[in-house]
Amino acid sequence: MLITDDLPLRGVLKCHCGLPLTGVASRGAGGSYYYYYKCKKSGHTNISAIKAHKQFEKVLELLSLPPKISEKVKKKSREMFDDKLKNSQLKLNQRKSELGESEKKLRNIEEKWINNQIAFETYSHWHKNLTDQIRALKIQIDMYGDKSKELSELFKSELDKLSHLKLIYLKATTIQKHELIKLVFDNRLYYEEGSYRTHFLTELLQHNTLKINNLYNNFFIKKGENDNVFSLGAPRSSPISSSTESMITCT
Ligand SMILES: [Zn+2]
Repeated sequence: MLITDDLPLRGVLKCHCGLPLTGVASRGAGGSYYYYYKCKKSGHTNISAIKAHKQFEKVLELLSLPPKISEKVKKKSREMFDDKLKNSQLKLNQRKSELGESEKKLRNIEEKWINNQIAFETYSHWHKNLTDQIRALKIQIDMYGDKSKELSELFKSELDKLSHLKLIYLKATTIQKHELIKLVFDNRLYYEEGSYRTHFLTELLQHNTLKINNLYNNFFIKKGENDNVFSLGAPRSSPISSSTESMITCT
């Protein structure tokens, strides 16, 4: 199966007939490409990738992680964030002490020049070197300072979103997206009459069933003996916790 980032659902999303949807690209009048998911059988599913992705993201927004896991994910994220922040503060302090050194050297060279202890060429050579250094260091200090402020704001605003699958999905690579979809929907995610359907939802996310049913009353369909949407007890609780964690870690 070909994997492209433009068509992350190719191969994992199925047509209502059961065939996996293939992805096609068609060139628009302006020269840019438009992507579609299409069933091999004529007259079956044929949807624009943009629409399919938007609809899928809406479904994922409704799939919140159980508090136990989202706390775990948040804890991990907090640790990673603290490490990043520590690192950039370390660099900031390093640059600040380098700046102090350079400014001290510059004062020395000026003093020596005033006291006629060095030639003009020597003075002007070092003066230029040191002022260039000081300028570069000041720029880096501003940068690291802004960066940590930016990071903590971003972190605060993103942390709450980590409790549902959408952000995790969007941050994942295409291969990780496939893994996530397989874990959550067990290769039983379909597209039918303009919307998503599934015959399976991992036990861990089943507390969302009522919420989704209220919005999309056809989302859950029980077709086969092995479809567990309405029966609990699928032994899939452990892989998703480690998988969602590793997805966060990989980004
Ligand atoms: Zn089909």
